[in-house]
Amino acid sequence: MTQICYSDSYRHSVEARILEVVTADGTTGPLVVLDSTVFYPGGGGQPADRGTILRAADGRTWMVRAARKLGREIAHELEPDEGGELPRPGDLVVADLDWTRRYQLMRTHTALHALCGVVWRDYGALVTGGNMEPGAGRMDFEFERMSGDLVGAIEATVNDELRRGRDVRVNVLPRDEAFAIPDLIRTKVNLLPPGIDEIRTIEIVGLDLQADGGTHVANTREVGTIRVTGYESKGRINKRIRIELSD
Ligand SMILES: [Zn+2]
Repeated sequence: MTQICYSDSYRHSVEARILEVVTADGTTGPLVVLDSTVFYPGGGGQPADRGTILRAADGRTWMVRAARKLGREIAHELEPDEGGELPRPGDLVVADLDWTRRYQLMRTHTALHALCGVVWRDYGALVTGGNMEPGAGRMDFEFERMSGDLVGAIEATVNDELRRGRDVRVNVLPRDEAFAIPDLIRTKVNLLPPGIDEIRTIEIVGLDLQADGGTHVANTREVGTIRVTGYESKGRINKRIRIELSD
């Protein structure tokens, strides 16, 4: 299947044919696999997309409450609809994701990478994890000497970098080539399973480079500005910074 989210994060709708429908069980709603999709299945701290599937023949619409990996495919999980009709394999549909929410996630995700880039460049602190929702997120760092004063300085520096209008580029590299880039080691690219022979990277040109599967804006200006809303110690070394988009 064509997985458009990885190559064109701005595409939010696609015409597609249903390949497979898996009926609901105790743990998930019905799952629909298409021959092409714009939905992001979640991962790397970015939640899965939501949206709709509309059948071309009769306009019948199903709510997609999440997308997820199903083997190598991306499946669309429908809202469970007790006794309701399901779409069928072969149906022609339009898959449409909730773009307002997705675009907020793209801006938030890029903001978090800008934060990582600044914290690494200016303080040499490694990122150990992160998570986000639309408009807000957090990152964890190995950052022993973080303090309230530093956090204020970090916020100002991140906003300076965002205002510079740095391009954000997606690249797919052979594994060996990716491993030769020293910056990628800090995002633990070396922990990727041996079966993966291509690595997708997100580069905020001049600021940050990470192995990453998520969806991002094309330029840091689209993020706007951020606010640091909190920081916490998760132990002597591990610290957490919370941010949100200013608007
Ligand atoms: Zn990321």
